Amino acid sequence: MKSIDELLASNREFAESLPAAHLDVHPARRLAIVTCMDSRLDVFAALGLSGGEAHVLRNAGGVVTDDVIRSLAVSQRRLGTREVMLIHHTDCGMQKISDDGFRAELQAATGTAPSFAIESFDDVEANVRQSVLRVRRSAFLPHRDNVRGFVYDVDSHALREVAVDEGPATRGGRSC
Ligand SMILES: [Zn+2]
Repeated sequence: MKSIDELLASNREFAESLPAAHLDVHPARRLAIVTCMDSRLDVFAALGLSGGEAHVLRNAGGVVTDDVIRSLAVSQRRLGTREVMLIHHTDCGMQKISDDGFRAELQAATGTAPSFAIESFDDVEANVRQSVLRVRRSAFLPHRDNVRGFVYDVDSHALREVAVDEGPATRGGRSC
């Protein structure tokens, strides 16, 4: 509660410091970014982005879940985005849990096993590749030619790209 009250005070100063302005709902860079909720990754600062330029979808791990596909479908089909940038990062909290262990913890605490997948991972680059492929293979998305994946180093602040081999399932043409 204390933090939220402090942020509300910050917002009052922020709103008073800026002139009112209306930006188009369509992101100017026609770009959607999917990334982790990690508090050390300031997406706008790290990429030199400004408001109105890109959609930013975040969850634990930057995992491409059904709900991320839902958002990307709206982003591409209604709001004009054409590129997808996936950003995972070093020292992710999702590398510190296991699917089975966290599922058991939730079940032990509540008596109910969650219906959702936990989606923890060990190898961040493998997880980026998995995420890129999930986007590229989603038939709900009309624009899948410009989907690239990266790892952000939370200490050096630098991005590095992860090469993604389409694999035998899709080589030679899209299967979906
Ligand atoms: Zn993370």
